[in-house]
Amino acid sequence: MSVFSHPAFDRHQNVSFFHDSETGLRAIVAIHNTNRGPALGGCRMWPYASDEEALRDVLRLSKGMTYKSALANLELGGGKSVIIGDPRQHKSEALLRAMGRFLNQLGGDYIAAEDSGTSVEDLKIMALETDHVAGVRDKVNLDGSVRSGDPSPSTAFGTFIGLREAVRHRTGRTDLEGLRVAVQGIGSVGYRLAEYLHEAGAQLWVTDIHQDSIDRAVDELGATAVPAEEIIGLEVDVFAPCALGAVLDDASIPKLRAGIVAGAANNQLAEERHGEILQQRGVLYAPDFVINAGGIIDVGFERQGHDPARLQRHIEGIGDTLREIFERSDAEQLPTSMIANRLAEERFMKV
Ligand code: NAD
Repeated sequence: MSVFSHPAFDRHQNVSFFHDSETGLRAIVAIHNTNRGPALGGCRMWPYASDEEALRDVLRLSKGMTYKSALANLELGGGKSVIIGDPRQHKSEALLRAMGRFLNQLGGDYIAAEDSGTSVEDLKIMALETDHVAGVRDKVNLDGSVRSGDPSPSTAFGTFIGLREAVRHRTGRTDLEGLRVAVQGIGSVGYRLAEYLHEAGAQLWVTDIHQDSIDRAVDELGATAVPAEEIIGLEVDVFAPCALGAVLDDASIPKLRAGIVAGAANNQLAEERHGEILQQRGVLYAPDFVINAGGIIDVGFERQGHDPARLQRHIEGIGDTLREIFERSDAEQLPTSMIANRLAEERFMKV
């Protein structure tokens, strides 16, 4: 298994492999870039079929974090870690503590947060051994209420701000009254986004694989429920993917009738070229790693001492970044996804 010649290797600064005989821990940490600050990114636990698959994931995801944090104007770099194993079978306190001790060896160049297969509680266990974890502390909201380290509310708020900016750019409207929005996936982020939209007067169409989530959105937000396969083809103004990755592909894009795609799901484009196809079809796409950065901003702010008013202002900056991307995309006639990548590179390479 080669690293330097791996297709997903892209000038990563450090790739470390860890093994602990006592607990069976096998982990890889990839630090892509620390020009802007320490590399912050999730610690994923997954039953990878091979070491090669784990390496590919950690190389790809750590690079994505460099771009995301740079676009979010954070003084953070990009990194990610993967623990090879089934979280339901192989996770133990000893294994998580061993991971925490490994993180100490990186001297703070990488800071771990929760991800698929790990929870805030797991990160709290790692924190018994290391300071290099984030997203573990309770936070005070602007109204004085307290919430857990879970960043989903901030992700939803940032997505709402970004969606509003996309509507303003496309239609010149600053209000969302009567705007028709289809939300795919009404989980932690999607439901809160739907609440913001409902409060702003938008009309909602929703789908999910869990009927109780759908019923809640119908009852509480006056949403219209639609079958999963119909959500992308609805005659609406905005399609907001908040469930899965790779929802925009050769089969789905021709069905899309919304003029705007703005949602929180990670990796919405099946391939980079789908950004170009959306542009050619006149669809305004808010790049996922820009619009869904509220979560990383939330986690990043925890390390600077949590200040809810500053946090909110910083998340609102997602709207400014998207405006810049949309304007450059119009001026240069290039896909928003490509412009976002270029803007990120300008930000993290020159520091
Ligand atoms: P979640 O698991 O709470 O919600 C996802 C929802 O999508 C669930 O209700 C699930 O039932 C539903 N779903 C799954 N498959 C579906 C399908 N085929 N059709 C319709 N609905 C389906 O996850 P979340 O935390 O709300 O995250 C949603 C998306 O946003 C994910 O792609 C995640 O990677 C991304 N994201 C989340 C955060 C965060 O802070 N939570 C940050 C950045 C990006």
